Amino acid sequence: MSEKYDVLVVGGGVIGMSCAYYLQKAGSRVLIVDRGRFSEAASTGNAGMIVPSHIVPLSAPGVISKGIKWLMNPESPLYIKPSANPKFMRWLWLFQKHCTADHVAYSVPILRDLSLMSLSLYENICAESGFEDVGLAHDGLLMLHRSDYARQDNLELADLAEAAGLDIERLNRDETLALEPALKTDITGSVYFRQDASIHPERFLRALEKVLLDGGAKIVDGAVKGFGTSSPQSVEVNTTVGKFTANHVVLASGAWTPEMASKLGQSISVQPAKGYSITVPVSKPSLRIPCILADEKVTITPMPGCIRFGGTLALQGFDASIDERRASPIRRQAEAYTQGAEKVSTWAGFRPASPDGLPFIGALENHPNVFVATGHGMMGVTLGPVTGKLIAELVSGQKPSQNMAPFDADRH
Ligand SMILES: Cc1cc2nc3c(=O)[nH]c(=O)nc-3n(C[C@H](O)[C@H](O)[C@H](O)COP(=O)(O)OP(=O)(O)OC[C@H]3O[C@@H](n4cnc5c(N)ncnc54)[C@H](O)[C@@H]3O)c2cc1C
Repeated sequence: MSEKYDVLVVGGGVIGMSCAYYLQKAGSRVLIVDRGRFSEAASTGNAGMIVPSHIVPLSAPGVISKGIKWLMNPESPLYIKPSANPKFMRWLWLFQKHCTADHVAYSVPILRDLSLMSLSLYENICAESGFEDVGLAHDGLLMLHRSDYARQDNLELADLAEAAGLDIERLNRDETLALEPALKTDITGSVYFRQDASIHPERFLRALEKVLLDGGAKIVDGAVKGFGTSSPQSVEVNTTVGKFTANHVVLASGAWTPEMASKLGQSISVQPAKGYSITVPVSKPSLRIPCILADEKVTITPMPGCIRFGGTLALQGFDASIDERRASPIRRQAEAYTQGAEKVSTWAGFRPASPDGLPFIGALENHPNVFVATGHGMMGVTLGPVTGKLIAELVSGQKPSQNMAPFDADRH
């Protein structure tokens, strides 16, 4: 006899754990199965930014031509490795189809509403669960520029953000330095996104884990191998540590979700988009405000006990190797801000990237009690809580708080 749960969540990254949190809050008995959360998940070494500023999806005009231009530059922040893999080719075809101004205009209000709702859910979770040391900070985000090219990009984003109702400020060099005197980067100005926030992602995951375990959820260290008999009432899940049955299943296994969905005969177009980070432990970060260097595409996030530098987006399958040349712009910033600090190694993680820059949140067409929650790409931390809330609403048959059509699991 296999153990029976209301909901089984596959994946214990920020998306799976946020789903589990809201499902448990709604009264479900939850089981989370993960094959090694604190090692391979994207949810651990990321930049921890909660960014309503990121209203433009990755699939925007000009991205493909930048990718081609940067192919031969070993330090470029975007790398698309040519591949004949049919799933990758299809993803790339869908991606370039969405690189249009119309798609950006369509996505801006969707991403704005999702991320603003998620930000307020972060506040609720931290307040109601007493998370005091997860580093939730409301210091905004400085998008810094040095070149005319980056300045132009930043100002276009500022116009879009302002038109979408976000609270922004265009700053010259002196105004930027007055706001953040610890900046060491040579800049000409910035755009300040006041509503953005940040969190220590690993601490947040551990805090969620404690609340879940205290509330009766079970977390199992094992890999899902496949699915057994399923009906609209229950699904059998085969794992390396035994067989479980649940009324509902949530596939929140990040970049590996297509592998899970394919075992149920469903195709989900998600590609792993590798990124790097370097975390330097410091007793007190010199910077107060999280920053993105628009020229280098490097992020800098002060967190409790450390400062984290991140960047790079490489579409090259599940190749976990670290190319130190590509990581060197990140390392240069780490060295500038933490001189004399102990040398630290580079971390790599796979963002689950959808071809249109919007997540997949919803039931599978042929399995109404199996849900997917993935494809958050560069926005998984930002959109964790709102995804969890929406999944809990769908599972319990409530009217979702957002229009779910853009996130349809079967849309491609
Ligand atoms: C360098 C970098 C910086 C980033 N910075 C930010 C940021 O500042 N803000 C932001 O919003 N987002 C950021 N992101 C994106 C964000 O980290 C991801 O979107 C998010 O972590 C994805 O979460 P997830 O739970 O979907 O996937 P993951 O965190 O990858 O979790 C998936 C889990 O599924 C498990 N799993 C997979 N297959 C199986 C199986 N067969 N059986 C059991 N378990 C399985 C894995 O072990 C893993 O733990 C960044 C990403 C990177 C790489």
